[in-house]
Amino acid sequence: MKKLKEEIHLEGIPVSEGIGVGSFFLFKGKEITVPEFAITSTQVSIEIARYRRALLSSREELESLHSYLKDEGSSEVCRIVDTHIQMLQDPIISQSIEEKIAHMRQNTESVFMYVMDEYKRLFRKKMNPDVAEDRLLDIKDLSHRILRHLNPITSAQKDILPHSIFADYEIIPTKAAEAKKGFVEGFISKIGGEMSHSGVIARAKEIPFVSGINISLLDDLGRENVIVDGYNGIVIINPSKSTMEKYYKSSSTHAKSILPVFSPSDITTKDDVLVKVSANFDSMDDLEKLSEYNINSIGLIRTEFLFLQEAVTTLSMQFQIERYEEIIQGAKGALLTFRLFDIGSDKKIIEMEELEPNPALGCRSIRFLLKYPKIFKTQVKALYHASLKGNIQLLLPLITDYDEFLTAVSFIEMCRKEVEREVDENVPKLKIGCMVEVPSFALLADHFAKVCDFFSIGTNDLMQYTLAMDRICPECESVFRLYHPSIVRLIKNVVEAANKEGIEVSICGEAASCEKYTKLLVGLGIRHFSCSIRYVPLIREVLSKIDSNNAREIANQALKAASINEVSELMNEEKIKY
Ligand code: PEP
Ligand code: MG
Repeated sequence: MKKLKEEIHLEGIPVSEGIGVGSFFLFKGKEITVPEFAITSTQVSIEIARYRRALLSSREELESLHSYLKDEGSSEVCRIVDTHIQMLQDPIISQSIEEKIAHMRQNTESVFMYVMDEYKRLFRKKMNPDVAEDRLLDIKDLSHRILRHLNPITSAQKDILPHSIFADYEIIPTKAAEAKKGFVEGFISKIGGEMSHSGVIARAKEIPFVSGINISLLDDLGRENVIVDGYNGIVIINPSKSTMEKYYKSSSTHAKSILPVFSPSDITTKDDVLVKVSANFDSMDDLEKLSEYNINSIGLIRTEFLFLQEAVTTLSMQFQIERYEEIIQGAKGALLTFRLFDIGSDKKIIEMEELEPNPALGCRSIRFLLKYPKIFKTQVKALYHASLKGNIQLLLPLITDYDEFLTAVSFIEMCRKEVEREVDENVPKLKIGCMVEVPSFALLADHFAKVCDFFSIGTNDLMQYTLAMDRICPECESVFRLYHPSIVRLIKNVVEAANKEGIEVSICGEAASCEKYTKLLVGLGIRHFSCSIRYVPLIREVLSKIDSNNAREIANQALKAASINEVSELMNEEKIKY
């Protein structure tokens, strides 16, 4: 894209509400700091697999860019992209790196950088300086692309200027978590939907986010002014003075609609039914909001988000204890639900990423923990140590099978006994709950309710796995997925099973923070909402206006519906078009 002076509107998908105004900052072109560490012989194949996957994704990206540019008639740029595709097939880039990973026993990124430096030296020595400079630029560009697909832990945002709009092909959770208020005013990306983990973090941090934008078209932008309209999913490059004024006016109207934050922590509906409203805790920044919003219970702490900047494999128990105790102390007696590391799928960690054709269906969450007992044990013991100072309970992610749950529980019990021996005092058992995120669990909820202390329904994954719709795919966003009658029935099944055994059931997926779903959820019997902190006041307000009998009648009809549209109609929402 040429340097722009005119105002350009790009339409995307709204991921996090709000209006962000700032100067454009494209992460893609920035220098990347690569981590360097030794690997063991068993990790060699894992590193090679990561490398192959990065090459494959780079190639796919270049091919789609090529076909776009071809349609656009940009033959000059097409030739550059062609060169990059050919370079990807160069044996130095493919075979030689793989051999060196095995030989040098270093992580992929550091070997890659080493080989690229060699490659550059060779070019400088052998080629005419003008041609060499062009080729070196190509190498740099391609290296960035490959490194980006390796997803190194970076300090990308250390050089970000205040009031920036951060753009990247994908905003990975680490980047979203690193974003500092006053520096990152908005996010733009190509992929990532409302329920992506970076979407969850952006909403918790109140950073407007629009996805579905073709980032490769913005490659040549400088620090142009950009507006991110997270309400309507619009990105405006080079906004005119009048557009700026319009947006300033509309953001102050939105600001006025913000509800009083301090309201009773639990709410009664219009007909006096008590509903508990807890918060989800996604970053240490949330700590200061707890008393501001009068929150006395945390329904979900995504512990993996607390250590995004660290290598999980090397996280010590002491380091974890300190972080957990910091939360316990800051939460001043609130009941805290610590979910064990939910690693995998779109929450990648660099050290152990294996080649998985379908990461969302791969070794994630509880499967990951059971496969790496050292990580599992260190975390559980750290939590038991911390539990001596506060009021906490444990939550297991992505349980799909009864025996898997029992295995995890006995492992946790073994950890508790070890802590008891270490501290030489009685360490009480903690309540252990399960996330309800897959249909296999929801359908067997009656069995699980007999052995489990509480349920927490994770609608983000429950919808992904029931409807076979990737939660990070922006194209799937427009569908009101919670209205799918299969989801309505699964939730009902889970609530009935929990009520029968007298265990608590809460809802902690993003649907809990979404006002259009509140009534249906109350009607299905949900009496505990755990919302993204920012939405706690709104959901309290919405709950106080609901009549639970009327909600139940609607839910009963929804349970008989055949389609999303039938449920949408019951909820007075627009129909979706296929
Ligand atoms: C969910 O799946 O709904 C959930 C709350 O967990 P996460 O978003 O962290 O996957
Ligand atoms: Mg989940």
